[in-house]
Amino acid sequence: MKELATLHDLFLDEIKDLYSAEKQLVKALPKMIKKASSSELSRGLQKHLDQTHDQVVRLEQVFAELSVPARAKKCVGMEGLIEEGEEILEHEGDPDVIDAGIIAAAQKVEHYEISAYGTAVAHAKAMGHTKVEKLLQATLDEEYEADKKLTAVAEGSVNRLATVSAEDEEDRPVAKSRSRAESRADEMRASPDR
Ligand code: FE
Ligand code: ZN
Ligand code: FE
Repeated sequence: MKELATLHDLFLDEIKDLYSAEKQLVKALPKMIKKASSSELSRGLQKHLDQTHDQVVRLEQVFAELSVPARAKKCVGMEGLIEEGEEILEHEGDPDVIDAGIIAAAQKVEHYEISAYGTAVAHAKAMGHTKVEKLLQATLDEEYEADKKLTAVAEGSVNRLATVSAEDEEDRPVAKSRSRAESRADEMRASPDR
């Protein structure tokens, strides 16, 4: 077992963990994008996949800055979050409900990253690694942005779902299917590029 004698040792562990986390996410996000029905959701996830590639490169810059080889240490936290997310992808069902599940899984991932990068930024700052701090802060900003975007997508689709559920309770299947079709039409109009 490796000794954690200094804050710097702990910090290196954090960076190796994040390096693993981002690499796992690069593999997992395409599966979520494939399963997403809302074009707004799949575009949001695709943008974050592009950012995640940049984040991997940024961590490699951090390793270089610290003069240590870029090596990952398996992030079991991210492994668990991805595993949970993949359970949702296995389900059949209403596309809007599955989208809501994908959003929930993706936000758990973003919150985990926000927490981990927040700590890493604080530790870099405490040790006076200014360049490294800036690199990590750039990624942290992207994680916040991704989380905010997911919240916006969720508010749109969850509102539609709540309407459908209310109609279910009133037992009006005709109204239900019409409102679903209408919301799909709204979405098509809102995003003419797809
Ligand atoms: Fe990330
Ligand atoms: Zn981890
Ligand atoms: Fe992220």
